Amino acid sequence: MRAIRVAMISLGCPKNQVEAERMLERLDVAGHEIVPKLEQAEVVVINTCGFITSAKEEAISHILTAARLKAQGAIRGIVVAGCLSERYREEVRQLLPEVDAVLGGGSCEAVCEAVEAALSGCPYERYDDIEQADMGGGRILSTPFYTAYLKLGDGCDNHCTYCAIPLIRGRLRSRPIEELVGEASALAEGGVRELILVAQDTTRYGEDLYGESRLVDLLRALEDIPGLRWIRLLYAYPDRISDELLQHMAGSDKVLHYIDLPLQHAEDDILRAMNRKGDRAQIEDTLLRIRRALPDVCLRTTFICGFPGETEAHFEALCRFVRRHRFDRMGCFAYSAEEGTPAASFDRQVPEDIKQRRADSLMLQQSLISAERGAALVGRQLCVLVEEFDADYGGYAGRSYRDAPEIDGRVYFTSPIELEVGAFVPVDIQSSDDYDLFGALSEASIDAGVNVERS
Ligand code: SF4
Repeated sequence: MRAIRVAMISLGCPKNQVEAERMLERLDVAGHEIVPKLEQAEVVVINTCGFITSAKEEAISHILTAARLKAQGAIRGIVVAGCLSERYREEVRQLLPEVDAVLGGGSCEAVCEAVEAALSGCPYERYDDIEQADMGGGRILSTPFYTAYLKLGDGCDNHCTYCAIPLIRGRLRSRPIEELVGEASALAEGGVRELILVAQDTTRYGEDLYGESRLVDLLRALEDIPGLRWIRLLYAYPDRISDELLQHMAGSDKVLHYIDLPLQHAEDDILRAMNRKGDRAQIEDTLLRIRRALPDVCLRTTFICGFPGETEAHFEALCRFVRRHRFDRMGCFAYSAEEGTPAASFDRQVPEDIKQRRADSLMLQQSLISAERGAALVGRQLCVLVEEFDADYGGYAGRSYRDAPEIDGRVYFTSPIELEVGAFVPVDIQSSDDYDLFGALSEASIDAGVNVERS
């Protein structure tokens, strides 16, 4: 088979992004040419997300854009992969006839076959058992060279009543520690300095494989990898934040004092209806233990507004909870009734406009809190990972331990010297806005001998 020019569009979460990177590597090994732009491609692979309505709409809009290009003869084939095709096998085939090849979420290994079939116009579909899917092997990173996601496993056993992910990705399957350390070592050898741990629930890592959470053991093993400077934890679950984990994070010089802890709600009867483990008292105890163990912790969380049965009183209580606990970062979704999930058939569904009004008002409240928490950092010095020179700003842009890529803020700073992308530098924080910080390279630290990788 000759080399085919292939473009990859990956939607949704970092776990899906890792699957796209695995597919890119298999296409590259097979001799196909990965092209950055859709217009340069013969075949486009759209790695879809399918867990809530807005994500499904985004996936379909990308598929229809590709279909228009195909109708114009600009591209010759469309492959749809990922969670939308895994969840809606029949619908993708029947409702999107422009699609040439379909891969289920467990069939990334077959991407070359799918692309070759799409080019030859032969209908192709493959749905391997997602719970048997390989999660290892090479990747072509789609993140900047200095940062990469490490997917600890797939699937989830928590069965929150609003969530379609267990229906799509199956039961919890953790990857062996040795395999993860092998992949992380290869990434570090390739220049990765920041490793971001992702899974549906990172705090349950290993429970299926080893009968208990082995997250701390995994962190210990990853810390020994030369070259890795930052290890960041996303998607933690509140009832699994152990004292052992917190003590380990407190004593580590690589595991960042950053915890992404989706709480979803704070009212007991809503948490129960969501089938969330733990009640508000346990959540508040967890937040207290986190802040005691990691006083400088950056806490990110997520809430769902408008869950069936949520009253104005529940919502007001949630607002008070958010004001009391003052998270550094917060996301908020209006509840999306997903067919096949228990909550979609619950009584007392909340009207769309009320759901959205609550989500918007909670985000507005949070923007004030984020601004105050940012302002409290003025006068501090932060270690910043240099990401680029921002000509509009007239200085560099980067991230501190408080900033996960794509979802959090940045640090903009001036520097009298030229800096290397991927370098870690001390920055004196001088001002802030709702989400970003502004400052200058710490000359005092440089004079005091702080190592700065100059270009
Ligand atoms: S923890 Fe809950 S919300 Fe998260 S993936 Fe699992 S079931 Fe879904």
